[in-house]
Amino acid sequence: MKRALVWFRCDQRLHDNEALVDALNIADEIIPLYVFDERVFFGKTSFGFPKTDIHRQKFIIESIGDLRINLKKIGGNLVVRTGHPEEIIPELCRKYKANWVYCNRERTSEEVHVQDQLEANLWTIGVEMRYDRGKMLYHTADLPFPITQSPDLFSTYRKEVEKIIAVRKPLEVPTSIKLVENLNFGEIPNLSVNEMNFKRGDIGKLRGGETSGLSELNYYLHDSKLVSNYKNTRNQMLGRDYSSKFSPFLSQGNLSPKKIYQELKLFEDEVESNESTYHLFFELLWRDFFRLIAKKHGSKIFKQGGLKNKTINGYSEDMSLFNIWKEARTGIPLVDANMNELNQTGFMSNRGRQITASFLIYEMKMNWLIGAEYFESQLIDYDPCSNYGNWQYIAGIGTDPKQGRKMNLIFQGQKYDPEARYIKFWVPELSEVPAGMLINPNKYSSNDFLNYGVMLGKDYPSPMLELNKV
Ligand SMILES: Cc1cc2nc3c(=O)[nH]c(=O)nc-3n(C[C@H](O)[C@H](O)[C@H](O)COP(=O)(O)OP(=O)(O)OC[C@H]3O[C@@H](n4cnc5c(N)ncnc54)[C@H](O)[C@@H]3O)c2cc1C
Repeated sequence: MKRALVWFRCDQRLHDNEALVDALNIADEIIPLYVFDERVFFGKTSFGFPKTDIHRQKFIIESIGDLRINLKKIGGNLVVRTGHPEEIIPELCRKYKANWVYCNRERTSEEVHVQDQLEANLWTIGVEMRYDRGKMLYHTADLPFPITQSPDLFSTYRKEVEKIIAVRKPLEVPTSIKLVENLNFGEIPNLSVNEMNFKRGDIGKLRGGETSGLSELNYYLHDSKLVSNYKNTRNQMLGRDYSSKFSPFLSQGNLSPKKIYQELKLFEDEVESNESTYHLFFELLWRDFFRLIAKKHGSKIFKQGGLKNKTINGYSEDMSLFNIWKEARTGIPLVDANMNELNQTGFMSNRGRQITASFLIYEMKMNWLIGAEYFESQLIDYDPCSNYGNWQYIAGIGTDPKQGRKMNLIFQGQKYDPEARYIKFWVPELSEVPAGMLINPNKYSSNDFLNYGVMLGKDYPSPMLELNKV
């Protein structure tokens, strides 16, 4: 009997799962496994935030539950453990006499450290580790350049790949699985409902898992046809429909980017192909790009000086100051609304992420890494490459040729929330205040706010600083 252990990581799906398909092709029996790595699931970031806070914990738990159900549908099941994969996997291999471990390879430092350690431990017991791919639209082997030569500029990268390389077809869902006998499947950790903090907003209703991911894909493309207008709506902030919301499913691997591409092409063939449908593909290219950057530059993506190794002087690491941003107490309604959304749902729009990051870096003059770590802690779609890549881009130490992306928040408010609908949704105590006052709060006095029933300092904080005062 040939046996393979399939270690599910951020590829929590049956469709287009190369590691699963390869293991099924070679082995007679398999052990499908997911490990809740306690360092990641319960650990702390370097600035002391939970590494995986409640929103993403919930999403992952749902996703693993769904994976187990889907595996059962084809005759399998999922073994679940909590601890260190590099210790648990060799133990299971020894106990059940597995010949191989299959997994989709990760590329960022902490994940690579674990897989290297695992590989070394497996060598000592004669088990072979085999790596597959599953994160990107393109296979690195298909790219017209080696990773070490991949462009640092997105526009160059895009031009070199988009017209030249074909996206491969996603792999089919396996039809059956034969499990190794007498497996002890183990329990999926449970979160008490009381701990949950999903109060508002449609995004809080998203459930983790492949089933939900495929249904969201179908909704955004085929059912609602919202993708036809994506380019015009993607910069909005309020609600479910302005952007795809594929990111949490991509980050846990509930959706394969190749599957999204396949459905997008189908939509273009059957319904319409326009600037918006192209733009969704364009954004998926950004995601691939940041992953390549992470592969090329290694741990520099997590370093304060960034890819450019730049020395940044004069930034603050005062955590009491940081907490004002984190807890949505800046007195700048556009920032606080976004931070409220993040804290209450684990999601924030791309526009909101740019606005809050710019405010922290350029107006509050804080170390960007603290903000990036806080996003890591909170986001349901946290992805190391996209998160740190985008923070560096805004901080001007990453892939952006400009010196950084300082945003004029008054302009941002006027353009993207002119009626302050988003602000009023997420900061309801300001719902009676006219939009103009909320977008440019520095221009108005306490008495002006009092006229609309808001006592600054009591009902809502006074602005912590004057916007755009450099
Ligand atoms: C400071 C900051 C931190 C970020 N952190 C993350 C993160 O941890 N995880 C994450 O997935 N995205 C991150 N992003 C990128 C982007 O904000 C989200 O991917 C997007 O908002 C997710 O919503 P959506 O799926 O509806 O996106 P859509 O607009 O519908 O885009 C479709 C897909 O394209 C990809 N995409 C879109 N914009 C970007 C981008 N700027 N960079 C990389 N990929 C992109 C995502 O996979 C997304 O799901 C960050 C952006 C900023 C500015």
